[in-house]
Amino acid sequence: MPELPEVETVRRGLEPAMQGAIIIHAQVNRPDLRWPFPENIAARLTGARVEALRRRSKYILVDLSTGETLLIHLGMSGRMTVSGDPLGQFTHDHPKAEKHDHVVFDMNNGARVTFNDPRRFGAMDLRPIDQIETHPLLAKLGPEPLGNGFDETYLRDRLMGRNTPIKSALLDQRIIAGLGNIYVCEALFRAGISPKRKAGAISEARIKSLVPIIRKVLQDAIAAGGSSLRDFRQADGELGYFQHSFDVYGREDEPCRTPACTGTICRITQSGRSSYYCAQCQR
Ligand code: ZN
Repeated sequence: MPELPEVETVRRGLEPAMQGAIIIHAQVNRPDLRWPFPENIAARLTGARVEALRRRSKYILVDLSTGETLLIHLGMSGRMTVSGDPLGQFTHDHPKAEKHDHVVFDMNNGARVTFNDPRRFGAMDLRPIDQIETHPLLAKLGPEPLGNGFDETYLRDRLMGRNTPIKSALLDQRIIAGLGNIYVCEALFRAGISPKRKAGAISEARIKSLVPIIRKVLQDAIAAGGSSLRDFRQADGELGYFQHSFDVYGREDEPCRTPACTGTICRITQSGRSSYYCAQCQR
């Protein structure tokens, strides 16, 4: 499932194709994804200019000249692809429509943006721009980990007195928005904190170190996404899914990468999710 860095990479990949351009044709091939599409979605999108592409947590927000914001969630398996030439200098053939191409936007700059989602856990919705922050999917989200609202004081206050493991607390979207299983495992490894440690029992000094580590883990992943894709787009036009190496995630039974550590990475299940960590480095 895409996490914050992947969604940010998709957002950046969509910018050259969509920012400032007009959706001259919106094709919506189904009545629903995870939930029904909003009424008349194709008509409400057609003719709209894209004023801004933002991200909140794992959601892409497309502000339109019609006064509405299009919310896009990739779900488990949603992919966005860009074909054609956003500069409109050449005539390009678009690839043939594929199974599970549910939504297709043709932009006035010649680009085509396609949303493909085999499992259909993705979502799209439309709201007035000034009401998007109170959308039910967004209203209860905590601060952005890369934003100003997330700092040491905030995290300390939110973890104080909590008996839940730190792993579960960091996955709680009401505490921090956009962090998922992969990057919580990676951040706890870099911070030397066991995923089993009770959230309320972590010292202030370690919380202080955890905040910049969380930011760095996400920034490194965003940078890896950007560097592994040319203009954030793979040759086949697919945005945002990239391979990069993790220190602990998916490395069960492999040696710990901390210099001089003789530990191996173990996997435990917490709240139904796999946690990967080194019991020697993480306390
Ligand atoms: Zn280790």
